[in-house]
Amino acid sequence: MDVKNRILELRRKLDAFAYEYYVLDQPSVSDQEYDRYYQELVALEDANPEYKDPNSITQRVGGVVLDAFTKVEHKNRMLSLGNAFNLEDLKAFDERVRAVKPDASYVVELKMDGLAISLHYIDGRFHQAVTRGDGLVGEDVTNNVRTIPSIPMHIDAQGEVEVRGEVYMPKKSFEELNTKREENGEELFANPRNAAAGSIRQLDSKIAAQRKLDAFLYYLEDAASFGIQTHEEALETLEKWHIKVNPLRKVCKTIEEAWQFIQEIQEKREELPYEIDGMVLKVNELSSWNVLGTTVKAPRYAIAYKFPAEEVVTKLLDIVVTV
Ligand code: NAD
Repeated sequence: MDVKNRILELRRKLDAFAYEYYVLDQPSVSDQEYDRYYQELVALEDANPEYKDPNSITQRVGGVVLDAFTKVEHKNRMLSLGNAFNLEDLKAFDERVRAVKPDASYVVELKMDGLAISLHYIDGRFHQAVTRGDGLVGEDVTNNVRTIPSIPMHIDAQGEVEVRGEVYMPKKSFEELNTKREENGEELFANPRNAAAGSIRQLDSKIAAQRKLDAFLYYLEDAASFGIQTHEEALETLEKWHIKVNPLRKVCKTIEEAWQFIQEIQEKREELPYEIDGMVLKVNELSSWNVLGTTVKAPRYAIAYKFPAEEVVTKLLDIVVTV
């Protein structure tokens, strides 16, 4: 098959997978398989720029907006993240950052496997919650988010405050939900991420409330307007407002220190009560964020390290399953 046809085939495949994942909440392939096709497409598009296309999935934030919900335009786009799969990728990211900010440090956070959400507070009162959608426009899921007990309805802050983070389904809630669905002869959710996405987009908030969702917030929009200079300070400000931030995070001065922390977390991954699919590194110094800027799809001041696929060997059947 020639390059052009392979590119078209990969785009068709990835669009179909994205539909299953973002719209139906029922993926038919693992994230690792999706990522492999995606990386192949990125490499082919980079090597053959004549076939670049603004409609390619590599140029868009992958979500969709369902008509069932009121659409809300984001004041600032909600982006995806660039990916790193090994230490070399992280070192290349580090070099790009240090070309702009030689003494940069990183906040290394857990990459929650849930769905991105934007919360709006006005004069301290919870006002609205919006999904990422296609990055420009999201869905108003305020009533469903109100049912998540860990999200405060009041915070000690004046004016308009936007906080972003991840809604997720704890492993325990996921197991309980699938057990119940099995008993009722209903289709099972493939994983907690898809279950969380399906739950937050329920038209009936009572159903969302039964799903026992949780959230970690990881970003304060326009932190500089609060006199904040680093991302870690922004996270501490959220904590002061009693907004739930994951305490498992670390400010690292070098990429090697970040890598060490990544290994530590990867070892504990199974014991965590929620699913993570990697780690996120963000430049700590907010003044560098504007200088580094963004691509069409992701900020250049942050990167997601994706954990490698785990090989689960089921001895009885003697087959290897990649999860
Ligand atoms: P992503 O999940 O790779 O990374 C971006 C997202 O990470 C953000 O939008 C945010 O929601 C989340 N995130 C979690 N913790 C975070 C933190 N601490 N700080 C910042 N962000 C954090 O990108 P994406 O665009 O949401 O989805 C693409 C990925 O989804 C693919 O790489 C693949 O793994 C998966 N996918 C799978 C299929 C499939 O069929 N299996 C289809 C489409 C997408």
